[in-house]
Amino acid sequence: MIPWNHGKRLPTIPGRCKGQIVILCYTLLFYSVTCVDVEPQKEIYVPNYNVYHNLTRIGKEVEYLLKFPNYVKVYTHHKSRQNRQQYLLHISNFTKHSEKFDNLVEKPRILFSFGEHAREFLPVESAIYFIRNLTGGLLPDVDGFSRQFTQQILSLVDLYIILMANPDGRHHVEKTKNYCWRGTSTGVDLDRNFEWEFGGKGSSSDTEDEEYRGKDPFSEPESLVFQEITSDVSFDAFFSFHSGINHIYIPYSDTKSRQLKRVPDNIQEMLRLAAQLSRSTKYKYRFGTSHQLINYTADGTIFDYMAGIQKIPFSFTVELWGKQHQGMSCFDLFNPKSDELQKVVSNLHPLYINIIRYLSEWKSRNIAKMTNPYSERPSMVLGYMLLGITASVSAMICLHRKFRNCPKIYTHQRIVSLKTLSSSFPAKNL
Ligand SMILES: [Zn+2]
Repeated sequence: MIPWNHGKRLPTIPGRCKGQIVILCYTLLFYSVTCVDVEPQKEIYVPNYNVYHNLTRIGKEVEYLLKFPNYVKVYTHHKSRQNRQQYLLHISNFTKHSEKFDNLVEKPRILFSFGEHAREFLPVESAIYFIRNLTGGLLPDVDGFSRQFTQQILSLVDLYIILMANPDGRHHVEKTKNYCWRGTSTGVDLDRNFEWEFGGKGSSSDTEDEEYRGKDPFSEPESLVFQEITSDVSFDAFFSFHSGINHIYIPYSDTKSRQLKRVPDNIQEMLRLAAQLSRSTKYKYRFGTSHQLINYTADGTIFDYMAGIQKIPFSFTVELWGKQHQGMSCFDLFNPKSDELQKVVSNLHPLYINIIRYLSEWKSRNIAKMTNPYSERPSMVLGYMLLGITASVSAMICLHRKFRNCPKIYTHQRIVSLKTLSSSFPAKNL
């Protein structure tokens, strides 16, 4: 979600500068407007495509998932302006065994979005690792633990994933090696093209600005998959994954909401989940509303739309990873070096598992509340029951004279003399 410099607003970036020229453009602009002493730099690091997935290899990963029709469905009809697939996946346990399970527990419906910003390779890599891991237990030769883990997680959730929201933008990056490119093929910032406070100051009408919002809400074909899937499915949660910093944002991020101090109805629950997620990896995310975490606004964002228009109870933007560095290089501002990638995606994996487990428990609690209104305060009901049972049993025992501390209920009291008592014990030498 954030602009490419960790939230310090930079001047408008001319996204159409090509190849080597782009670096010079950025440097001159940055230097001339901010007066920071920045030496011109080339990209100091570029991806190794034997490690990072390019678009072709991402497509092969999706093909691999067709091996698991009982657990993964692939929808191919959502496409970009240049006719590239966005890869909408539906992952769950669709087997008959699961149907029995579904009668007992309704699964949370969750939508994950990856690849909205072209230069952010890491979120897509993280998604591929997560999906590979999740489906790993379905392979024939795995150990019992892996199989059980996979079956359990897939039975807990109804998960939809938009794996590559902006494939044309990614194609542009791969082709031109402009690793600062954020937009679609027409330079639109997909994360400003949605119908929630569209057109505010937290976006731009300048086609050369990297936060160019497009002509109208949903003007970009890439935005339509979000609109269609949310009108077909009633989601409990939406997550938009990015990279550039370690933050978890809660809506709203738009200019008007900052003025009104507007927050979602479900803010407390969202904060609880964000707190849990912030501890789930070694990256220890800062979390809160966008207004608390950053000093600029963003209008027309996807996660605000999901919270404000679609009324999805949980809606987050998660900035998975970031590394502070000096200079104007882009790739390693948003993505780890190739030899660090496996370690980073492995570290991020628990985040997704925690999301699923938390929302599964949340959904179960909600259903229990709806079916049994007393389930919310079991301790009080149980307390009253125990108190009643204790009082009844005490009264019965007392009435039958079996309880020594009930003198008032006794009809006759036996007087025991001290002499009688003393005879029961050996005499002491006083
Ligand atoms: Zn982003």
